[in-house]
Amino acid sequence: MTKRTILLQFDSDPHASVFDAVVAVDAGVDQLLQYSELEPMEVRDLVHGAMFTRGPQDLYNTAIFIGGSNVSAGEELLKQVRACFFGPMRVSVLLDANGANTTAAAAVLAAARHVALRGATAVVLAGTGPVGQRAARLLARQGAKVRVASRSLDKAKAVCAAIQKLVAGTELTPVETKTQPETSAAIEGAQLVIAAGAAGIELMSAEVRAASKSLQVAIDLNAVPPAGIAGIDVMDKAKERDGPVCYGAIGIGGTKMKIHRAAIQQLFTANNLVLDAEEVFAIGQELPA
Ligand code: NAP
Repeated sequence: MTKRTILLQFDSDPHASVFDAVVAVDAGVDQLLQYSELEPMEVRDLVHGAMFTRGPQDLYNTAIFIGGSNVSAGEELLKQVRACFFGPMRVSVLLDANGANTTAAAAVLAAARHVALRGATAVVLAGTGPVGQRAARLLARQGAKVRVASRSLDKAKAVCAAIQKLVAGTELTPVETKTQPETSAAIEGAQLVIAAGAAGIELMSAEVRAASKSLQVAIDLNAVPPAGIAGIDVMDKAKERDGPVCYGAIGIGGTKMKIHRAAIQQLFTANNLVLDAEEVFAIGQELPA
């Protein structure tokens, strides 16, 4: 008898994300088990409950989704989950805390539709947050030369160093962008910019964007007015504005949702998958444009 699919939703917030629950249901999960305010020390018993009930041959029907708004907390939960596995006794797991992996993957995939990423120069504004760091990492993996921008040069340097450890031989440059002239200098000669700033923060003025001669793609992930890149509409999806092709947060959101659903479905194809930024990006690459 085919086993029903069961997804354990691990979430560090007081209420497990409704958004993630709806995506799980829409992805076809039969039974969703939700755990909120989850602490790392509580993970082991839950994972054991998932690992030791069905035989190894049936474990691909049980999987774990790690969400929650705090990405560091999600990463710690993933570490604890992985530590529980041994031999064939494991279930597949997807990390998408705060939508960081699916959003970064969708942004980089959107860019790749317009620019050959290998050898391109890409700038990630506010590249120090969870989404920006992942976007920078994925761009580096695709062979882009990446400038990581931040209000703090030290923060940008730390992100570059962390990515360098994961992606050998990549060209990463930390840049400080406290002012519009600095932002203008940061995008000089770049083909792609992704604005990954906090909600409701303008990072680039319309003048700076319009003055750029090199930008081919500009992507703004902030959905809350004012836009992260002034002049980009939240609904923009491959919309040309004064030269570059532009995407707004909702323009990226459709692809993000498709990737999220496909990643949940992929969890139930094997019992040994760990889907983090790179794996989620690879799932996006397989989806029809
Ligand atoms: P975040 O952690 O809240 O912020 C990212 C970076 O923004 C911070 O590291 C900081 O960089 C910069 N920042 C914060 N406050 C600022 C301020 N007052 N002025 C200038 N810069 C400031 O963001 P995130 O969670 O990575 O998410 C990035 C964006 O993606 C957000 O706008 C979020 O809403 C959006 N998002 C969109 C989707 C979607 O489906 N479209 C899904 C998830 C997230 P520095 O300190 O280094 O300057």
